[in-house]
Amino acid sequence: MDIYWLNKKADLHLQRGSGIRRKINAMLTGMAHRLRTAWVPGFPRHLILDVFSSCGLHCPICPQGRREIPRKPSVLDPDLFRTILDSFGPYLYTLTLTNWGEPLRYPHLVELVEYARKWSVYIGFSTNLQTFPREKIDRLLETDIDEIGCSIDGATEQTYSKYRVGGSFSDAIDRMTYLVHKRNELGKRTPRIRWQVLLNRYTEKEIELIIDTGRSIGVDSIVFVPIYVDIAGLFMRTPRERFDRDRDWLPLDSGMSWYDYETGLLKQIPVICDKLWDTMVIHPDGAVSPCCGVIDPAHDFGRITPGRLNGLRLFNNASYRTARRMIRLRRSINPELVCSHCVTHGILIY
Ligand code: SF4
Repeated sequence: MDIYWLNKKADLHLQRGSGIRRKINAMLTGMAHRLRTAWVPGFPRHLILDVFSSCGLHCPICPQGRREIPRKPSVLDPDLFRTILDSFGPYLYTLTLTNWGEPLRYPHLVELVEYARKWSVYIGFSTNLQTFPREKIDRLLETDIDEIGCSIDGATEQTYSKYRVGGSFSDAIDRMTYLVHKRNELGKRTPRIRWQVLLNRYTEKEIELIIDTGRSIGVDSIVFVPIYVDIAGLFMRTPRERFDRDRDWLPLDSGMSWYDYETGLLKQIPVICDKLWDTMVIHPDGAVSPCCGVIDPAHDFGRITPGRLNGLRLFNNASYRTARRMIRLRRSINPELVCSHCVTHGILIY
């Protein structure tokens, strides 16, 4: 079993294949990133495609759990995912089917995974396992999906229920166990079952128990993920205000956190935002955002509708080009653009 600590910048090895088109694209976008060009001669390498935007839990510092996402709930239209994948699929290294929603609630999940498998892209998603339609799960396990991340914060009911408000710990553990056993029964190595644990004030006390439990269940990996504070306030409040809003959730051991507890800032503020050159986030209604932290539709960079899509043009529209220019100059030239906040306060997420 692999154990990853994202606070130590672990490499999760999320890669499936290469292929000449994908390689050339990565070379071109990588070069644009190094030169900080406003125009990128290629497609994003990573796509976060949110398929179903709501989730039943009330996790206390998640913008979804707090019901602070101003976007209307929506469900991805199958014609829309075909449009998106036809354009981006040949160039993608990773396709993540979760942003702030719960993918197991999405009625066309199996169909989407089977469609995306036309391309050699690493496909995965995270789930809270509170919705678990058996028939859909069994079909999903027979697809060629690469990974399922199970979000279970804690190794005991007491710890789990502090953060996953409204969720059942025993259901989550039983269902993660089912995924491992059923996959093994099918004689398959994928999907890899990853246990994802947010590092918070409560889970930090159960690290060893989590590792022991993960081993006994037989998960392929455990990934410990430091929490971000006040995502909903990312572009509305100062970093200090956000830190103060949620500081009681942070682990007492600051080594398990992204934040410097004196300043309230990220310990290492990135100089450049990589996402603008290699990632795209698409919401179920087709809205496009430059990164996963953008929850307000007023900050979107575009919208995709079913039909023909020129992905290259979209990835180089006026919003993308201006945002890249601002990051390169480290100066806000359009305060209306969400990235202006990162230029002023430093990049806010890794
Ligand atoms: S808002 Fe910040 S983190 Fe998001 S894409 Fe823009 S610069 Fe990057």
